[in-house]
Amino acid sequence: MKIGILGAGQLGRMMAISGYPLNHQFGFSGNSSSEPAALLGHMFTQENNIEYLTNFADVITYESENTDVEVVKKINKNVRVYPSEKSLFITQHRGREKALFEQLNIPCAPYQIINSLADLKQAVSKIGLPAILKTATEGYDGKGQFVIRSDAQIEEAFASMNGAESILEGFVNFKRELSLIAVRGLDNDHKYYPLVENTHHQGILRLTIAPAQAIDPEVQKTAEQYIQTLLDAMDHIGVLTIELFETDNGLMVNEMAPRVHNSGHWSIEGANTSQFENHIRAISNMPLGDTTSTHAFSAMINIIGKLGPIERVLKMPNAHLHLYDKTERAKRKLGHINITANSQKALDFSLQQLQDFLPQ
Ligand code: AMP
Repeated sequence: MKIGILGAGQLGRMMAISGYPLNHQFGFSGNSSSEPAALLGHMFTQENNIEYLTNFADVITYESENTDVEVVKKINKNVRVYPSEKSLFITQHRGREKALFEQLNIPCAPYQIINSLADLKQAVSKIGLPAILKTATEGYDGKGQFVIRSDAQIEEAFASMNGAESILEGFVNFKRELSLIAVRGLDNDHKYYPLVENTHHQGILRLTIAPAQAIDPEVQKTAEQYIQTLLDAMDHIGVLTIELFETDNGLMVNEMAPRVHNSGHWSIEGANTSQFENHIRAISNMPLGDTTSTHAFSAMINIIGKLGPIERVLKMPNAHLHLYDKTERAKRKLGHINITANSQKALDFSLQQLQDFLPQ
């Protein structure tokens, strides 16, 4: 099949890499021929790039929840776009996302939509402090967020949103941050990866451990029930990710993404079928692949800003380097390293060898 991807970043790049062995071909729409996926297929950068991509493709997907819903609606008249318009519409707005969690009885932090300073003052008095103010749309990697710790910060927090619609969320005292990736096929098959544990630094994911350790099977089951309910409610085809907080009172869902996710990159070498391949299988109407992890432990370390001592990675038997063809720039995701290990000791030893890639 010819698969079109709206966007040509590292997620599109890794989707294409996983799709070629299945005999698929790829096309991308983007801004420039120097984007990470540009050399992996037909790259449409012209003025009418969406039209060209639509003419090229049998099916289209996207790599960002910030994709314009109107564009997807238009494409859908000629070529199917997966995940559904509904998934995209809901997941690109934190308020709509939270409303769906509530409607489906999925626990999440208390929240209120903010459109004015008066809204914010009223929400703070109801939700209490500390609380987090987030832009309703287009926030990622911790951007567009303000933690309000005292009443004195309310005006500053409101001003920092620059007039954008926002959402105030109660602060969750979590023990760990987890995420769950699932995939739903056109034949309505559902598959789930194991819960993984994520560590962030300055709002950016730095380390994923897969599977997350010391997870009660009931907790895995609960997370799978939440995501299954969401997949079905949105009639979602492809990969869906939920980010969760593990608390003393169980799991709470933070947010979701209608796409392959940074916390699933470990699955390239760490699972029987990677998240990328399963997304491609789902949207191209192929049977889904097994999601079981192939090693007792996998880890994924993001390479951020600077490449660092990558020769060291290449010398390690159980480490795998993935670069995205990007130039160095502060806070930029340039690549990642996957580690596989069969004991905690082996994992710790590998992480120790790669500590230059992790924040102190
Ligand atoms: P987000 O963009 O919603 O994923 O938020 C980025 C990071 O901020 C999360 O990974 C958490 O570490 C933290 N965070 C977000 N929301 C909350 C919350 N309601 N309570 C506590 N920490 C949060």
